[in-house]
Amino acid sequence: MNLLEKLDAAAAARKAQLPEGLSAFGIPIDEAFSATEARIGKRRVLMLGTNNYLGLSFSSECRDAAHEAIDQEGTGTTGSRMANGNYYGHRALEQELAEFYHCRECIVFTTGYQANLGTISGLVGSGDVVLIDGDAHASIYDGCILSGADVIRFRHNDTNDLEKRLRRLGDRSKNTLIIIEGIYSMLGDQAPLAEIVKLKNAYHSTLLLDEAHSLGVLGETGQGLVEKTGMIDEVDFITGTFSKSLCGIGGFCVSRHAQLNQLRYISHPYIFTASPSPATIASTRAALKLLRDGQLLRKQLWKNAQQLYTSLQATGYAVGPQPSPIVAVLLDSPKQALALWNGLMEHDIYVNLVLPPAAPEGKSLIRCSVNAAHTSEQIDRVCQVFTELHTVIMQ
Ligand code: PMP
Repeated sequence: MNLLEKLDAAAAARKAQLPEGLSAFGIPIDEAFSATEARIGKRRVLMLGTNNYLGLSFSSECRDAAHEAIDQEGTGTTGSRMANGNYYGHRALEQELAEFYHCRECIVFTTGYQANLGTISGLVGSGDVVLIDGDAHASIYDGCILSGADVIRFRHNDTNDLEKRLRRLGDRSKNTLIIIEGIYSMLGDQAPLAEIVKLKNAYHSTLLLDEAHSLGVLGETGQGLVEKTGMIDEVDFITGTFSKSLCGIGGFCVSRHAQLNQLRYISHPYIFTASPSPATIASTRAALKLLRDGQLLRKQLWKNAQQLYTSLQATGYAVGPQPSPIVAVLLDSPKQALALWNGLMEHDIYVNLVLPPAAPEGKSLIRCSVNAAHTSEQIDRVCQVFTELHTVIMQ
């Protein structure tokens, strides 16, 4: 099979999995009206499948900051942080994030994906070990591959399995990076951080926590799981993204270790790419202030999360393991998941469809996510539609 034929075979396999399902992926958003509403074709839909947890994508502070940055600094930096792309704003944002986490060092990357690639491949290499949670995001897997380290998966959120694997490593556990997430992107559950910290200390390993989905969502000031659990001094490296609660694009790594700074000289995903645009840095800085003072937004977010989670569970849907702004509905087959996705779309509700192998444990998922801008009337309507569809689809 030549290279193009291989792609044809992959396309055919995808089509065979669920021919009618292809339209659910990469659906064109024709107009975005607000943090909760958009137009898809002729439909004005409720957006219940974004990562806009604090609902800040249309905030006037963030938009004004972005406009001003474009006017003053232009549309793009056209270069790497190592060359001509290291503007005042990038450095200021690094300082603000370091202060926010009470950490010594921060590096800003161009995307959250690159933050994981750049951090992991900078920290470990050939001869080292990475121990990753089985539900880890693709950017973590890809960072591991780029690093050349030996990759071992432990069962999702299973600290017994993690300990077993650390024990087996013997002396190599000292050269091991354990990688977990604050809130997991598919099922919405949280890592047992305190227990994992105990293990990483006992085995003298290093811990990286990806707070992509928990930044802005957990903790009094929104730092994430580190703040909720009081573990900021125990975690070695924290990565995160600007593309979810902060409503921009970009990523970061913060650390209490001064050595993080060395990554600027060795990390290819930091060096060999252009830096984030001035507008995205400016809107992210404005969003970070709103996030830090966003106690009311978090309160509303969690009220919405609880309302949707409890209602879907009471209706009889299999939902994720704990209440979360990510409410996953687990279904046995891709066909059933697609039927539910279509049913919701017919009622003008957009959610994410996730099919195997992207969903954990061979399941299919309808991934809903709420944000602080959803009103309780909107959530009520969603619950009502889910209830109606339950009798049609789940029989
Ligand atoms: N980490 C996790 C856990 C994620 O879910 C994502 C994105 N979905 C990323 C990193 C990458 O972030 P970005 O989309 O900002 O590149």
